[in-house]
Amino acid sequence: QQACDALVYNRHGHYDDVLQLEKVLLPPVGDEDLRIKMLAAPVNPADINMLQGTYAILPPFPAVGGNEGLGEVLEVGSKVCDAKPGDWVIPVDAGFGTWRMEVVCKATDVIPVAKDIPLLSAATLGVNPCTAYRMLKDFGNLKPGDTVIQNGANSAVGQAVIQIAAGMGLSTINIIRDRPNLKELKDKLKSLGASLVITEEALQKPEVTNLFKDIRRPKLALNCVGGHSAGNLLAHMEYGSTMVTYGGMAKKPVPVPAKALIFKDINVCGFWMTQWKRNNMHDLSEIKAMVAELAEMVRRGQLSVPTCTQVPFPDYKVALDATTRAYSSKHVLMM
Ligand code: NDP
Repeated sequence: QQACDALVYNRHGHYDDVLQLEKVLLPPVGDEDLRIKMLAAPVNPADINMLQGTYAILPPFPAVGGNEGLGEVLEVGSKVCDAKPGDWVIPVDAGFGTWRMEVVCKATDVIPVAKDIPLLSAATLGVNPCTAYRMLKDFGNLKPGDTVIQNGANSAVGQAVIQIAAGMGLSTINIIRDRPNLKELKDKLKSLGASLVITEEALQKPEVTNLFKDIRRPKLALNCVGGHSAGNLLAHMEYGSTMVTYGGMAKKPVPVPAKALIFKDINVCGFWMTQWKRNNMHDLSEIKAMVAELAEMVRRGQLSVPTCTQVPFPDYKVALDATTRAYSSKHVLMM
Protein backbone atom coordinates (compact mmCIF):
# COMPACT_ATOMS: atom_id res chain seq x y z
CA GLN A 1 0.00 0.00 0.00
CA GLN A 2 1.26 3.46 -0.92
CA ALA A 3 1.66 6.28 1.60
CA CYS A 4 2.01 10.04 1.32
CA ASP A 5 2.69 13.08 3.50
CA ALA A 6 -0.35 14.80 5.03
CA LEU A 7 -1.05 17.38 7.75
CA VAL A 8 -2.97 15.32 10.28
CA TYR A 9 -4.70 16.18 13.58
CA ASN A 10 -6.16 13.85 16.17
CA ARG A 11 -7.68 16.45 18.51
CA HIS A 12 -8.79 20.07 18.35
CA GLY A 13 -6.66 22.96 19.49
CA HIS A 14 -4.07 25.47 18.31
CA TYR A 15 -2.43 24.25 15.10
CA ASP A 16 1.00 24.39 16.75
CA ASP A 17 -0.18 21.79 19.25
CA VAL A 18 -2.37 19.54 17.14
CA LEU A 19 -1.25 19.57 13.50
CA GLN A 20 1.55 17.24 12.40
CA LEU A 21 3.15 16.27 9.12
CA GLU A 22 2.72 12.48 8.96
CA LYS A 23 2.71 9.61 6.48
CA VAL A 24 -0.82 8.39 5.75
CA LEU A 25 -1.73 5.24 3.84
CA LEU A 26 -3.58 5.56 0.55
CA PRO A 27 -6.38 3.02 0.07
CA PRO A 28 -6.46 1.05 -3.21
CA VAL A 29 -8.27 2.87 -6.05
CA GLY A 30 -11.79 1.37 -6.28
CA ASP A 31 -13.97 1.21 -9.41
CA GLU A 32 -15.62 4.56 -8.69
CA ASP A 33 -12.55 6.28 -7.25
CA LEU A 34 -9.85 8.67 -8.35
CA ARG A 35 -6.27 8.95 -7.17
CA ILE A 36 -5.33 12.61 -7.13
CA LYS A 37 -2.04 14.44 -6.65
CA MET A 38 -2.66 17.69 -4.78
CA LEU A 39 -0.98 20.67 -6.46
CA ALA A 40 -1.91 23.63 -4.25
CA ALA A 41 -4.16 24.27 -1.26
CA PRO A 42 -4.93 27.63 0.38
CA VAL A 43 -5.07 28.25 4.11
CA ASN A 44 -8.44 29.92 4.77
CA PRO A 45 -9.78 31.28 8.08
CA ALA A 46 -12.33 28.43 8.23
CA ASP A 47 -9.47 25.87 8.16
CA ILE A 48 -8.11 27.34 11.39
CA ASN A 49 -11.60 27.31 12.97
CA MET A 50 -11.95 23.66 11.97
CA LEU A 51 -8.62 22.79 13.65
CA GLN A 52 -9.76 24.67 16.76
CA GLY A 53 -13.03 22.72 16.78
CA THR A 54 -15.18 25.87 16.46
CA TYR A 55 -16.43 25.31 12.88
CA ALA A 56 -19.95 24.08 12.10
CA ILE A 57 -18.72 20.78 10.63
CA LEU A 58 -15.83 18.81 12.05
CA PRO A 59 -14.33 15.79 10.23
CA PRO A 60 -13.81 12.62 12.31
CA PHE A 61 -10.31 11.91 13.68
CA PRO A 62 -7.73 11.28 12.44
CA ALA A 63 -8.46 14.25 10.16
CA VAL A 64 -6.40 15.89 7.45
CA GLY A 65 -6.47 19.71 7.48
CA GLY A 66 -7.59 21.96 4.64
CA ASN A 67 -10.90 22.30 2.83
CA GLU A 68 -9.95 23.79 -0.48
CA GLY A 69 -7.34 22.97 -3.09
CA LEU A 70 -6.48 21.92 -6.60
CA GLY A 71 -5.58 18.37 -7.56
CA GLU A 72 -4.48 16.60 -10.71
CA VAL A 73 -5.99 13.20 -11.49
CA LEU A 74 -3.34 10.45 -11.56
CA GLU A 75 -5.45 7.29 -11.74
CA VAL A 76 -9.09 6.60 -12.58
CA GLY A 77 -11.29 3.70 -11.35
CA SER A 78 -12.70 1.36 -14.01
CA LYS A 79 -16.29 2.70 -13.73
CA VAL A 80 -15.39 6.41 -13.86
CA CYS A 81 -16.17 7.84 -17.28
CA ASP A 82 -16.07 11.60 -16.73
CA ALA A 83 -12.45 12.03 -15.56
CA LYS A 84 -9.05 11.10 -16.99
CA PRO A 85 -5.44 11.31 -15.84
CA GLY A 86 -4.16 14.86 -16.11
CA ASP A 87 -7.54 16.55 -15.37
CA TRP A 88 -7.64 19.29 -12.77
CA VAL A 89 -10.23 18.87 -10.02
CA ILE A 90 -11.39 20.68 -6.86
CA PRO A 91 -13.38 19.27 -3.90
CA VAL A 92 -17.13 19.72 -3.83
CA ASP A 93 -17.71 19.61 -0.07
CA ALA A 94 -15.96 21.03 2.99
CA GLY A 95 -13.91 18.65 5.15
CA PHE A 96 -12.10 17.06 2.17
CA GLY A 97 -8.64 17.33 3.79
CA THR A 98 -6.59 19.05 1.08
CA TRP A 99 -3.30 19.53 2.95
CA ARG A 100 -1.74 16.32 1.65
CA MET A 101 0.36 15.17 -1.27
CA GLU A 102 -2.10 12.61 -2.66
CA VAL A 103 -5.61 11.41 -1.99
CA VAL A 104 -7.92 8.59 -3.09
CA CYS A 105 -11.59 9.69 -3.14
CA LYS A 106 -14.91 9.00 -4.86
CA ALA A 107 -15.04 10.60 -8.32
CA THR A 108 -18.21 12.42 -7.18
CA ASP A 109 -16.29 14.13 -4.33
CA VAL A 110 -14.61 16.45 -6.84
CA ILE A 111 -15.58 18.51 -9.86
CA PRO A 112 -13.45 19.48 -12.85
CA VAL A 113 -11.85 22.88 -13.25
CA ALA A 114 -10.43 24.17 -16.51
CA LYS A 115 -6.68 23.75 -16.99
CA ASP A 116 -6.33 26.91 -19.08
CA ILE A 117 -6.66 29.26 -16.10
CA PRO A 118 -3.75 30.06 -13.74
CA LEU A 119 -3.07 27.40 -11.12
CA LEU A 120 -3.58 29.83 -8.22
CA SER A 121 -6.96 30.91 -9.61
CA ALA A 122 -8.06 27.27 -9.93
CA ALA A 123 -6.83 26.42 -6.42
CA THR A 124 -8.84 29.27 -4.86
CA LEU A 125 -11.96 29.28 -7.05
CA GLY A 126 -14.19 26.83 -5.18
CA VAL A 127 -14.84 28.71 -1.94
CA ASN A 128 -14.33 32.47 -1.94
CA PRO A 129 -15.34 33.48 -5.49
CA CYS A 130 -18.28 31.02 -5.30
CA THR A 131 -19.40 32.68 -2.05
CA ALA A 132 -19.14 36.16 -3.58
CA TYR A 133 -21.01 34.99 -6.71
CA ARG A 134 -23.89 33.40 -4.80
CA MET A 135 -24.38 36.33 -2.43
CA LEU A 136 -24.55 38.80 -5.33
CA LYS A 137 -26.89 36.60 -7.38
CA ASP A 138 -29.18 35.25 -4.66
CA PHE A 139 -29.78 38.23 -2.34
CA GLY A 140 -31.15 41.74 -2.78
CA ASN A 141 -32.57 41.23 -6.30
CA LEU A 142 -29.78 43.44 -7.65
CA LYS A 143 -29.99 45.30 -10.96
CA PRO A 144 -27.30 47.29 -12.79
CA GLY A 145 -26.85 50.65 -11.07
CA ASP A 146 -27.65 49.25 -7.59
CA THR A 147 -25.13 49.52 -4.77
CA VAL A 148 -23.57 46.87 -2.53
CA ILE A 149 -21.73 47.81 0.66
CA GLN A 150 -19.30 45.38 2.29
CA ASN A 151 -16.84 45.27 5.16
CA GLY A 152 -13.73 43.06 5.12
CA ALA A 153 -13.44 44.29 1.53
CA ASN A 154 -9.80 43.27 1.30
CA SER A 155 -10.59 39.63 2.11
CA ALA A 156 -10.46 37.12 -0.74
CA VAL A 157 -14.28 37.04 -0.71
CA GLY A 158 -14.38 40.85 -0.66
CA GLN A 159 -12.04 41.15 -3.64
CA ALA A 160 -14.16 38.65 -5.58
CA VAL A 161 -17.30 40.64 -4.65
CA ILE A 162 -15.72 43.83 -6.05
CA GLN A 163 -14.86 42.17 -9.36
CA ILE A 164 -18.06 40.16 -9.89
CA ALA A 165 -20.20 43.15 -8.86
CA ALA A 166 -18.37 45.39 -11.33
CA GLY A 167 -19.14 42.86 -14.07
CA MET A 168 -22.84 42.99 -13.06
CA GLY A 169 -22.87 46.79 -13.38
CA LEU A 170 -23.20 47.29 -9.62
CA SER A 171 -21.49 49.98 -7.54
CA THR A 172 -19.60 48.83 -4.47
CA ILE A 173 -18.77 50.67 -1.25
CA ASN A 174 -15.86 48.84 0.30
CA ILE A 175 -14.97 49.17 3.97
CA ILE A 176 -11.45 48.28 5.12
CA ARG A 177 -9.43 48.65 8.29
CA ASP A 178 -6.98 51.54 8.52
CA ARG A 179 -3.37 50.46 7.97
CA PRO A 180 0.07 51.88 7.21
CA ASN A 181 -0.19 51.29 3.43
CA LEU A 182 -3.79 52.53 3.14
CA LYS A 183 -3.40 54.35 -0.18
CA GLU A 184 -1.77 51.31 -1.79
CA LEU A 185 -4.68 49.09 -0.77
CA LYS A 186 -7.29 51.66 -1.84
CA ASP A 187 -5.63 51.89 -5.26
CA LYS A 188 -5.49 48.11 -5.57
CA LEU A 189 -9.20 47.62 -4.74
CA LYS A 190 -10.14 50.45 -7.11
CA SER A 191 -8.10 48.79 -9.85
CA LEU A 192 -10.26 45.68 -9.29
CA GLY A 193 -13.39 47.76 -9.92
CA ALA A 194 -14.33 49.16 -6.47
CA SER A 195 -16.46 52.32 -6.73
CA LEU A 196 -15.48 53.61 -3.27
CA VAL A 197 -13.00 52.36 -0.69
CA ILE A 198 -13.26 53.85 2.80
CA THR A 199 -11.98 52.98 6.25
CA GLU A 200 -14.15 51.87 9.17
CA GLU A 201 -13.35 55.22 10.85
CA ALA A 202 -14.34 57.32 7.82
CA LEU A 203 -17.65 55.44 7.56
CA GLN A 204 -18.64 56.75 10.98
CA LYS A 205 -18.07 60.45 10.15
CA PRO A 206 -21.25 62.54 9.52
CA GLU A 207 -20.00 63.77 6.13
CA VAL A 208 -20.17 60.20 4.82
CA THR A 209 -23.84 60.89 3.95
CA ASN A 210 -22.53 63.15 1.14
CA LEU A 211 -21.46 59.97 -0.64
CA PHE A 212 -25.09 59.18 -1.32
CA LYS A 213 -25.50 62.25 -3.53
CA ASP A 214 -23.46 60.40 -6.17
CA ILE A 215 -24.21 56.76 -5.44
CA ARG A 216 -27.48 54.97 -4.53
CA ARG A 217 -27.90 53.74 -0.97
CA PRO A 218 -27.02 50.02 -0.77
CA LYS A 219 -29.70 47.40 -1.37
CA LEU A 220 -27.31 44.72 -0.15
CA ALA A 221 -24.71 44.69 2.64
CA LEU A 222 -22.20 41.85 2.95
CA ASN A 223 -20.87 41.39 6.45
CA CYS A 224 -17.54 39.58 6.76
CA VAL A 225 -16.61 41.02 10.15
CA GLY A 226 -19.46 41.32 12.73
CA GLY A 227 -19.35 43.55 15.81
CA HIS A 228 -19.44 47.36 15.39
CA SER A 229 -18.36 47.02 11.79
CA ALA A 230 -21.62 45.22 10.96
CA GLY A 231 -23.68 47.81 12.86
CA ASN A 232 -22.00 50.58 10.87
CA LEU A 233 -23.13 49.02 7.58
CA LEU A 234 -26.78 49.04 8.69
CA ALA A 235 -26.74 52.80 9.25
CA HIS A 236 -26.31 53.51 5.53
CA MET A 237 -28.66 51.03 3.91
CA GLU A 238 -31.73 51.56 1.76
CA TYR A 239 -35.26 50.91 3.04
CA GLY A 240 -36.16 47.21 2.62
CA SER A 241 -32.53 46.18 1.93
CA THR A 242 -30.76 43.00 3.02
CA MET A 243 -27.68 42.39 5.17
CA VAL A 244 -26.05 39.00 4.65
CA THR A 245 -23.55 37.86 7.27
CA TYR A 246 -21.05 35.34 5.92
CA GLY A 247 -18.00 35.81 8.17
CA GLY A 248 -17.26 36.66 11.77
CA MET A 249 -13.67 37.89 11.62
CA ALA A 250 -14.08 40.20 14.67
CA LYS A 251 -15.50 37.27 16.67
CA LYS A 252 -18.20 39.62 18.05
CA PRO A 253 -22.01 39.39 17.73
CA VAL A 254 -23.81 41.37 15.03
CA PRO A 255 -25.60 44.31 16.72
CA VAL A 256 -28.91 45.09 15.03
CA PRO A 257 -30.55 48.34 16.28
CA ALA A 258 -34.35 48.18 16.58
CA LYS A 259 -34.62 51.24 14.30
CA ALA A 260 -32.94 49.34 11.46
CA LEU A 261 -35.67 46.70 11.68
CA ILE A 262 -38.63 49.01 12.37
CA PHE A 263 -37.97 52.09 10.25
CA LYS A 264 -35.90 50.53 7.47
CA ASP A 265 -37.34 47.00 7.45
CA ILE A 266 -33.87 45.58 6.88
CA ASN A 267 -33.75 41.85 6.29
CA VAL A 268 -30.91 40.33 8.33
CA CYS A 269 -29.77 36.87 7.26
CA GLY A 270 -26.73 34.65 6.75
CA PHE A 271 -25.10 32.64 4.00
CA TRP A 272 -22.96 29.51 4.15
CA MET A 273 -21.47 28.23 0.91
CA THR A 274 -21.09 24.71 2.31
CA GLN A 275 -24.84 24.52 2.99
CA TRP A 276 -25.64 25.82 -0.50
CA LYS A 277 -23.39 23.14 -2.02
CA ARG A 278 -24.92 20.44 0.18
CA ASN A 279 -28.39 21.55 -0.94
CA ASN A 280 -27.22 21.10 -4.55
CA MET A 281 -25.22 17.89 -4.08
CA HIS A 282 -27.87 15.56 -5.61
CA ASP A 283 -27.16 17.10 -9.01
CA LEU A 284 -23.70 18.62 -9.41
CA SER A 285 -24.61 20.45 -12.62
CA GLU A 286 -25.37 23.77 -10.89
CA ILE A 287 -22.11 23.72 -8.91
CA LYS A 288 -20.17 22.79 -12.06
CA ALA A 289 -21.87 25.57 -14.04
CA MET A 290 -20.99 28.16 -11.38
CA VAL A 291 -17.33 27.06 -11.31
CA ALA A 292 -17.23 27.08 -15.13
CA GLU A 293 -18.71 30.61 -15.20
CA LEU A 294 -16.14 31.82 -12.66
CA ALA A 295 -13.34 30.21 -14.70
CA GLU A 296 -14.66 32.09 -17.73
CA MET A 297 -14.49 35.34 -15.71
CA VAL A 298 -10.83 34.50 -14.96
CA ARG A 299 -10.18 33.92 -18.67
CA ARG A 300 -11.83 37.23 -19.59
CA GLY A 301 -9.65 39.01 -17.01
CA GLN A 302 -12.72 39.97 -14.97
CA LEU A 303 -11.54 37.91 -12.00
CA SER A 304 -7.83 38.47 -11.48
CA VAL A 305 -5.38 35.90 -10.13
CA PRO A 306 -5.61 36.38 -6.34
CA THR A 307 -2.62 37.91 -4.61
CA CYS A 308 -1.21 34.86 -2.86
CA THR A 309 1.97 34.01 -1.02
CA GLN A 310 3.09 30.56 -2.14
CA VAL A 311 4.51 28.42 0.67
CA PRO A 312 6.30 25.06 0.17
CA PHE A 313 4.20 22.32 1.82
CA PRO A 314 6.77 21.43 4.56
CA ASP A 315 6.76 25.12 5.67
CA TYR A 316 3.02 24.96 6.40
CA LYS A 317 3.42 26.74 9.77
CA VAL A 318 4.45 29.93 7.95
CA ALA A 319 1.12 29.87 6.11
CA LEU A 320 -0.92 29.12 9.22
CA ASP A 321 0.82 31.87 11.24
CA ALA A 322 0.24 34.40 8.47
CA THR A 323 -3.46 33.51 8.19
CA THR A 324 -3.99 34.45 11.83
CA ARG A 325 -2.12 37.79 11.43
CA ALA A 326 -3.68 41.09 10.30
CA TYR A 327 -2.93 42.64 6.90
CA SER A 328 -1.66 39.37 5.50
CA SER A 329 -2.21 38.06 1.97
CA LYS A 330 -3.78 34.66 1.27
CA HIS A 331 -1.19 31.91 1.79
CA VAL A 332 -1.29 28.84 -0.44
CA LEU A 333 0.54 25.58 0.28
CA MET A 334 2.35 24.32 -2.82
CA MET A 335 2.68 20.52 -2.91
P1 NDP B 1 -8.95 36.26 3.96
O1 NDP B 1 -8.01 35.41 4.75
O2 NDP B 1 -8.70 36.47 2.53
O3 NDP B 1 -9.02 37.70 4.65
C1 NDP B 1 -9.41 37.87 5.97
C2 NDP B 1 -9.98 39.27 6.07
O4 NDP B 1 -10.50 39.47 7.37
C3 NDP B 1 -8.95 40.35 5.81
O5 NDP B 1 -9.49 41.27 4.89
C4 NDP B 1 -8.78 41.00 7.18
O6 NDP B 1 -8.65 42.39 7.09
C5 NDP B 1 -10.11 40.74 7.84
N1 NDP B 1 -10.01 40.69 9.29
C6 NDP B 1 -9.27 39.84 10.02
N2 NDP B 1 -9.46 40.07 11.33
C7 NDP B 1 -10.32 41.11 11.41
C8 NDP B 1 -10.88 41.85 12.48
N3 NDP B 1 -10.62 41.53 13.75
N4 NDP B 1 -11.71 42.87 12.18
C9 NDP B 1 -11.98 43.19 10.90
N5 NDP B 1 -11.48 42.52 9.84
C10 NDP B 1 -10.66 41.51 10.10
O7 NDP B 1 -10.41 35.71 4.23
P2 NDP B 1 -11.45 34.95 3.32
O8 NDP B 1 -11.90 35.82 2.23
O9 NDP B 1 -10.91 33.60 2.99
O10 NDP B 1 -12.63 34.80 4.36
C11 NDP B 1 -13.22 35.96 4.93
C12 NDP B 1 -14.33 35.55 5.89
O11 NDP B 1 -15.34 34.94 5.15
C13 NDP B 1 -13.88 34.54 6.94
O12 NDP B 1 -14.57 34.82 8.14
C14 NDP B 1 -14.35 33.23 6.35
O13 NDP B 1 -14.56 32.24 7.32
C15 NDP B 1 -15.65 33.69 5.72
N6 NDP B 1 -16.11 32.85 4.64
C16 NDP B 1 -17.39 32.42 4.75
C17 NDP B 1 -17.94 31.65 3.77
C18 NDP B 1 -19.35 31.23 3.90
O14 NDP B 1 -19.78 30.36 3.15
N7 NDP B 1 -20.11 31.81 4.83
C19 NDP B 1 -17.16 31.19 2.63
C20 NDP B 1 -15.83 31.79 2.55
C21 NDP B 1 -15.33 32.57 3.55
P3 NDP B 1 -7.23 43.09 6.79
O15 NDP B 1 -7.10 43.07 5.30
O16 NDP B 1 -7.46 44.45 7.33
O17 NDP B 1 -6.20 42.30 7.50
